[in-house]
Amino acid sequence: MSLLKGKVQNYAWGGTQYIPELLGLEVSEKRCAEYWLGAHVNAPSILKTPEGDKSLDEYLHLNLTRVLGTKIADKFGRLPFLFKVLDVNDMLSIQVHPSKIEAEKGFKFENEQGIPLTAKNRNYKDDNHKPEIMVALSEFWLLHGFLPKEKLIQVLKTIPEFNHLLTVFEDKGYFGLYKQVMEQTTEESNKILQPLVNRLLPLYKAGELDRTNPGYWAAKAVDSANDTTILDKGIYSIYFFNIVMANKGEAVFQDAGIPHAYLEGQNMELMANSDNVLRGGLTPKHVDVPELLKHVVFEETHPNIMLGELQDDGIERIYKSPAPDFELSQILLNSENKYQSVAQTAQVLIVIEGEAEVSEGDVSLVLKKGQATFLSAESDYRITSPSLATIYKATAP
Ligand SMILES: [Zn+2]
Repeated sequence: MSLLKGKVQNYAWGGTQYIPELLGLEVSEKRCAEYWLGAHVNAPSILKTPEGDKSLDEYLHLNLTRVLGTKIADKFGRLPFLFKVLDVNDMLSIQVHPSKIEAEKGFKFENEQGIPLTAKNRNYKDDNHKPEIMVALSEFWLLHGFLPKEKLIQVLKTIPEFNHLLTVFEDKGYFGLYKQVMEQTTEESNKILQPLVNRLLPLYKAGELDRTNPGYWAAKAVDSANDTTILDKGIYSIYFFNIVMANKGEAVFQDAGIPHAYLEGQNMELMANSDNVLRGGLTPKHVDVPELLKHVVFEETHPNIMLGELQDDGIERIYKSPAPDFELSQILLNSENKYQSVAQTAQVLIVIEGEAEVSEGDVSLVLKKGQATFLSAESDYRITSPSLATIYKATAP
């Protein structure tokens, strides 16, 4: 059991306050988008051990079976998950993640084509899938899957600029509709979207649009864009996808093929250890439309907001997902109760609110807000709090 120190990622879409305040760092103008806890080669966390600081990546390399346990070590050969705190100020790119089989194929193909791993036009960074689960730490907004048919028809009828797309949708369904708008030239999409944007911007600036209205997010995207001469085709997706709000403590799972984008708020995100993202707009990064169209599941999505399952101890709430790579849970403590567990495989715990004490045998570690610990397989431990604590736990099922 050791303190685990993660790495802050300063992406441009991040906020300036939430992560520094969580970690007890000085708040500045600097954007702090993500705080990574894990062994990803690009930003491995640091273990604070009595023998000094160790990169979790290297530590795992030397002690894989002991730390992960035989089952997970044999199955994955590495820590299967990456745990993150996100602070979304400006919306992220619209994206979809490939299935495991598609990722293996795509990775092999791009290797055979001789496209360097670091190339801008590289789609597959590794051969892994990237399912993701998030729990909201505040009111959290996201785009998640296509609107159900009736709702989408309503949108196409209500927005004058989209009226001509109604027959496309009726004739060719979700695939035909999305393909048509995503394959438009910038000139074509600008011509369609400009009048809509012209109508929305004054309303947005006057505070007359609320977050349940796609117009709010479309106007926000245009308002925060660096280049206002090109209207991002991601605006179509804002209108075609479900706008979902998750309250604090509620979770959403993104499986392979579900198009999605985080819009605003803070969350805990747990994902498979991969970097495979195919993008569909609202980003200056590489967008490969034919590849994107191959991987999007073209069907309606009824968002499933998960409340998690409270365990028999009345303390731990597990957010189950079909992903074999990870399991996310929330542990709520007060001064009266005590959490007790034996780790099946490696675990990462982070205190988001309050303070906690983690003990194993006669060794104990006090975790203040923002501090995290790493536990190995077979750790037999307990957690208490002097007052209140909200802890999030990442492990593999
Ligand atoms: Zn994603």
